[in-house]
Amino acid sequence: MFSERVKRVGASATLKISAKAKAMRAQGIDVIDLSVGEPDFSTPRNVREAGKRAIDAGRTKYTLNQGTVELRRAAADWLRREQGLHYDIREILVSTGAKQSLFNLVMALVDEGDEVIIPAPYWVSYPEMVELAGGTPVILSTREEDGFRVTPERLRAAITPSTKLFLLNSPSNPTGAAYTRDQLEALARVVVEEDILVAADEIYSQLVYDDFRFTSFASLGEEVRRRTIVINGVSKAFAMTGWRLGFAAGPEAVISAMAKIQGHVTSNACSVSQEAAREALSGPQFEVHKMAMEFSRRRNYLYQRVSSLPGVSCHRPEGAFYLFPNVSAYYDLEYQGMAMRNSYGLAYFLLKEAAVAVVPGDAFGADDHIRLSYATSMENLAAAMDRISAALGKLKPPKRIRKAALRNLRTRSRKPVPLETSPGAERRNALVAEVETFLPFDHYREWNANVAGLVIQLRTNAPHLYELFVENFFPAELEADIEPHAVLYAVEGVKGREPHAYYDPETRTALLVNCDDYRRLRTLALGTAADISERIGDAHTVRGMSLDCRGSGLLLLGPAGTMKTELTFGLLKEKGVKLHGIDLTFLRYGGGQAVADMPERKFFFPTRNVTVEPALEDALARSLCLDVVTRREDCRNTSCELAGGECLLEKGAPWCLFASKDSHALLDPFWIGGREKHARRTVLDRVVILSPETGSGHPESLAPDEAVRTLESLSTTTGAGGHPFLNPFLLDDSEDRLSFQRRSFLRLFDLAGAYLFRVGGMGLPAALDQLKQLTGIS
Ligand code: PMP
Repeated sequence: MFSERVKRVGASATLKISAKAKAMRAQGIDVIDLSVGEPDFSTPRNVREAGKRAIDAGRTKYTLNQGTVELRRAAADWLRREQGLHYDIREILVSTGAKQSLFNLVMALVDEGDEVIIPAPYWVSYPEMVELAGGTPVILSTREEDGFRVTPERLRAAITPSTKLFLLNSPSNPTGAAYTRDQLEALARVVVEEDILVAADEIYSQLVYDDFRFTSFASLGEEVRRRTIVINGVSKAFAMTGWRLGFAAGPEAVISAMAKIQGHVTSNACSVSQEAAREALSGPQFEVHKMAMEFSRRRNYLYQRVSSLPGVSCHRPEGAFYLFPNVSAYYDLEYQGMAMRNSYGLAYFLLKEAAVAVVPGDAFGADDHIRLSYATSMENLAAAMDRISAALGKLKPPKRIRKAALRNLRTRSRKPVPLETSPGAERRNALVAEVETFLPFDHYREWNANVAGLVIQLRTNAPHLYELFVENFFPAELEADIEPHAVLYAVEGVKGREPHAYYDPETRTALLVNCDDYRRLRTLALGTAADISERIGDAHTVRGMSLDCRGSGLLLLGPAGTMKTELTFGLLKEKGVKLHGIDLTFLRYGGGQAVADMPERKFFFPTRNVTVEPALEDALARSLCLDVVTRREDCRNTSCELAGGECLLEKGAPWCLFASKDSHALLDPFWIGGREKHARRTVLDRVVILSPETGSGHPESLAPDEAVRTLESLSTTTGAGGHPFLNPFLLDDSEDRLSFQRRSFLRLFDLAGAYLFRVGGMGLPAALDQLKQLTGIS
């Protein structure tokens, strides 16, 4: 699938959270957005007029690649007047936003193996840019107590022979911290002595408060200027974010290399924006000061409100328009059984509970913090703080966990849940509309799971289904700008409806109505992901147990009663054997190989299997469990496996893992035998079909078409629980899908050898021995 072929680039956290806020607003929820990264003022009138004049005069053609002479002259004058910097216009490059200047710079300087020192908290794009250029970001953490400023000692310690560039952002996004002249001079000494280059991102230079005096790094003398590239622009100071105009000033050799790169990417920045920016830089600066005064007023207010929140500490920013409070005091607290674990969790909680959008600090490399922007009105700030403070007040310490307690969730009703496939778009829409009325905002939970590369979004009002789902699957990102591949509704309390499940491949929607049984939800989630990847991707999903035997993949398929689990755990005892999967596996047949991937973060492990592997008892009891029996009267086990038939529950044990065949634990694969005993991916070499019949006592090789027939006949002869291809995750068993399965199994058996192993009447040791011989590990 394409998602595997594209480079990994993190999306902007600000954009993601803003998109989420917008989506909530579209639903009529009055979200206050404190995640914005741009002034909430309009571009000054004289500047707008200049832009209009440029259009009317037809100045709408390409300009010089590096920016018009007039604009570069205006920028040079502005840098001289405002920052005491002296640049010739050949030393200035105009770009599409300060962002592009920064990107040009990184591309021009950084090669594979080069290190770039980035103080954290950092603006989100810095490390991404460095990685795109093939360099290595060296993150230099700073401390709140030091005002989030890098000390000269720490800078020196981070420098190595590979250091190319130091990225210095003052005032900073996200902390608002700015360096005084003295502090910059101390850093400059290290820079000169160590002879490294500095990118001074001074985009917030005009927005500093109280009596703080901004100093430009390049103004600290010729030795510093030679090593510095100043980045600035009109986005923040002149409220011109959408015009996309910024510039860089620095040594001509660097600037001209940057210009060449830009020449291949965008050419000149927008001609109209250039004319407007010229007016901004050379016209009256009154609006900038007015805006800075208003920001200063808001900063004072917001800072006072934020620092009076219990447990919160906050650096008082010198500039920019952000506050970056430390909120980690709330991380172990919980609300409605949901614990805050990190800045994403807290930001999500504030969005849902307070309807206030903030950016998680983790995006800036500081997970103890969140970023609040005061680029919004005083009224909004006041209301947002009231809401945040009320929401934080709801967070309570978790109830003390009794030592002997199990994290055990219970299914209330196990009524049968019929599945209807392909209800059609019209009926699907009606069903969705109906269930959505039972998803009120205050009981709504949403989670994006990443199931084998597909984003499956759960929307539910059932807290325990949500909790199990989150535990079970790998997370995709939370934010709304991800378009999920499928949406899965699990809605309880829908009036007048019996428990029912629906799956509509056409609209990629699954619904689970009035059923609180997680088993059904998981089947729907995995089944939906399997069906979609089989339709759109090159995938094939199979249900069985898989192992990696010293680099060679083995898949065991077979109905109940064929010792699948026993054989799997028996093989696992051997050196170099790793467990891959115990249930549904995603296979891809690219490049002449059958590559098997595990779609789940945790194994959905029947706790009764502890009889096969008693060493797992502790790991199971530490896991999130479902329906483990804790009372004697709930025991459904009529043939207790325990020696002597002694009942653990009667003896006072707090739970029994054997008492029900339905009880499960979401078991971390690493807890089975450590990291070395788990493989997330394996390449299949052999597929063994286990049959309950009696046979020759050893696995027999099968031709691909024979193997497919055997599988099909086993599926139908193994009783009422039989599923096509032994796979209960096939939601759509139309003839079309079944023939897809047949073709896919033929492909599988072309790539991996198929064997039939009739184990009826055989003891475990003998059968195990045979498999060891087959895989060559005996
Ligand atoms: N640097 C920093 C620190 C920023 O916060 C921003 C904007 N969020 C930029 C650069 C990019 O500014 P521009 O809009 O000019 O590309």
